[in-house]
Amino acid sequence: MAKSVPDHIIIGAGFTGLVHAFLSLEKGESVLVLEKRDRAGGLIRSVPTEYGIVETAANGILNCWELEALSSKLGLDLLFPDANAKKRYIFSDRKFKRLPLNVFEIIRFAFSALTVPSKPIPGESIYSWGKRVLGDAFLSKILEPALGGIYAGDLDAMSAEFVLGKFLREDVPLWKNFRAYANSRKEKPKLQPGRRGTVSFRGGIGSILGALEARVASQGKIKYKQEILSIKDLRKSYPKAKITLATNLSTTLKILKAEFKEFKGYQGMLDTLPVVSVTRFGKDSILSGKKGFGVLFPKDHKSFSSELGIRARGILFNDFIFSGRTSDGIHSETFIYGGAGDREIASRSEDEIISIVEEDRKKLFPEGEIPLNHYVTVWKDALPVYGPQLFAFNRDLDRVLPPDIRVEGNFRNGIGLKSILERAFEQNGL
Ligand SMILES: Cc1cc2nc3c(=O)[nH]c(=O)nc-3n(C[C@H](O)[C@H](O)[C@H](O)COP(=O)(O)OP(=O)(O)OC[C@H]3O[C@@H](n4cnc5c(N)ncnc54)[C@H](O)[C@@H]3O)c2cc1C
Repeated sequence: MAKSVPDHIIIGAGFTGLVHAFLSLEKGESVLVLEKRDRAGGLIRSVPTEYGIVETAANGILNCWELEALSSKLGLDLLFPDANAKKRYIFSDRKFKRLPLNVFEIIRFAFSALTVPSKPIPGESIYSWGKRVLGDAFLSKILEPALGGIYAGDLDAMSAEFVLGKFLREDVPLWKNFRAYANSRKEKPKLQPGRRGTVSFRGGIGSILGALEARVASQGKIKYKQEILSIKDLRKSYPKAKITLATNLSTTLKILKAEFKEFKGYQGMLDTLPVVSVTRFGKDSILSGKKGFGVLFPKDHKSFSSELGIRARGILFNDFIFSGRTSDGIHSETFIYGGAGDREIASRSEDEIISIVEEDRKKLFPEGEIPLNHYVTVWKDALPVYGPQLFAFNRDLDRVLPPDIRVEGNFRNGIGLKSILERAFEQNGL
């Protein structure tokens, strides 16, 4: 039963807020979650449709011992991807390739990885770091699409120290840093063989949000339609509670700068990127006969254009990744657009976005059949830009905030759910 005066108030009931609320309850604290909307989950929702499940944001989560522990406490079984669908492709020379480098480019990369000091230089962008440490080919054909697929960012605007610093701590070549990073994680509980990689749940990622919400609502309290804009006002009702802000980056800054002068200077400095995701159901697969996880489209460093004029950043092959994602005979492909270089797409109408999807698909698969349905999700400021300003903001969060106010979210330790989860466990001493 929840105490009337909570020990811990959490603002925002997305993945971050619900995980922190759950871990707090596990420690025996009483918890109150305040959520602006009339539902929990934030960006994430798994929508059941006539043809199959649609994910509005994350479609999978990288497995880790923290996720195994959380799922088991919630009574959820992890869903592992089909073994023959793990192949990731990069579009290069008009083909879906697993390794888009030629022999000379591989040798150049191997030489760099063995010899070039890899610790990011303060102020170095990911683009400059990639050019210095990996070489041009690896940078443009692998690093750009890979990071573009996760952060949807411009490598010039992203801070290497912030994004890569935790993996590359010493000024030694890449392989030595990776070995040191792997050693530093040896203390952590190991995953059983075959349980690594991207996972989900039978009903989609929304299942874990639903289970977290149910647990937090039954052992603590969640109040919906509560838009919190001031910590000072909250303090009037709850003078002693610990407060965790778990909203998106722009709201977090809005709340903090009203309270702490140190954050006023960040106004207009912390950029976010829009993302558009379109799940397309149809009777044929773009892979025509092959199977796979997804494909990424490398973008030109300056113009953000890609081969054949494909506008998508990537496509996920949902029904190949996880079985049971669609009705029989139906294929589900999620096209991801937006991010740096293509903010404009978020202001297009749904019909225009669907036409863009169909144009892209036609270029890749001219003989493709007509679609059965599309499900469009537009996120105007979904992803934070992992630039030097956000790096400085994070350091100020650690320096300025009193111990009873914490700030958590996908702008602290990485955008992915695994990073949010790992940090939440660490913050809670687990
Ligand atoms: C298209 C897309 C695909 C993605 N794919 C993946 C993937 O495959 N794997 C992966 O690991 N990650 C993925 N991500 C990233 C991941 O989904 C997000 O980083 C994560 O869901 C963010 O969760 P959050 O709780 O920090 O923020 P949010 O989900 O934004 O939740 C914040 C919550 O705070 C509430 N709130 C906001 N302001 C207030 C206020 N003033 N008062 C009270 N409440 C407030 C909001 O309503 C919301 O419920 C993807 C993201 C996108 C957009």
